[in-house]
Amino acid sequence: MSLAILYDATLCIGCKQCEQACADRHKLPYDDAIAAEEVQSDHKLTVVQGRDDRFMRRLCMHCVEPTCASVCPVAALRKTPEGPVVYDEDRCMGCRYCMVACPFSVPRYEWTKLLPRVRKCDFCAGTTLAGGVQACAEICPTGATKSGERAALIAEARSRLAENPAQYVPHVYGLEEVGGTSVLMLSGVPFESFGYRTDMVKEPIPMLTYRVLSRIPDFVPLGGILLGGIWWITHRRDEVAAEEHAAPSGEGR
Ligand code: SF4
Ligand code: SF4
Ligand code: SF4
Repeated sequence: MSLAILYDATLCIGCKQCEQACADRHKLPYDDAIAAEEVQSDHKLTVVQGRDDRFMRRLCMHCVEPTCASVCPVAALRKTPEGPVVYDEDRCMGCRYCMVACPFSVPRYEWTKLLPRVRKCDFCAGTTLAGGVQACAEICPTGATKSGERAALIAEARSRLAENPAQYVPHVYGLEEVGGTSVLMLSGVPFESFGYRTDMVKEPIPMLTYRVLSRIPDFVPLGGILLGGIWWITHRRDEVAAEEHAAPSGEGR
């Protein structure tokens, strides 16, 4: 059993109740000023973005093989067998490799706190691992955010595309991106128009990390893979540095 969320942007009315419910569940502040922020941050684990009358959500994608967890030297980030990628603040040493490694630029850092933590959506793991539903899915008045089992939600997404092809971009986002994610998305407008990349590799990015490389037989040529991985990590480090410079309070894209 693998838990997932299906977000269907064509059903989303931009009410932002998911944002409020997430903040309430995680005891984070939420007011009109925070509601107006259109970026994920250390105090906003999910965001609903609006363009004209179209909407799109952002949250941790809970990758099937998460790069954030694969680069964490102390296993503070961990993929659970049920799907959520969870964070243990007691293990975290603040190196922020996870922020560099995440292909979706999700983890944020509590720059203003005395004992800062990495913050990101945790899939409401305390509830979902006990059989409950994510706060954002539970509150959603239109069913735009739906909780369920990944294979069943993939089947549902495909059938929505087949039944209403004119309504959707023909793509289930998260089905294959970086090896698949536990957040699946449908949209009526190109995902790129909300900044989602659709040129992501279809293989898990942890394929580029040492933990996996060390298990690959020696006869496999590794030079290209290693160079690609080093280039990618270096490139992302520069991007994260630029984001941090632009938003020292921890806010970012
Ligand atoms: S989206 Fe980023 S933070 Fe979330 S599981 Fe994937 S790599 Fe980790
Ligand atoms: S799954 Fe939970 S933590 Fe993640 S966005 Fe929804 S309410 Fe917030
Ligand atoms: S609660 Fe549902 S309809 Fe409202 S903004 Fe969130 S996803 Fe969209």
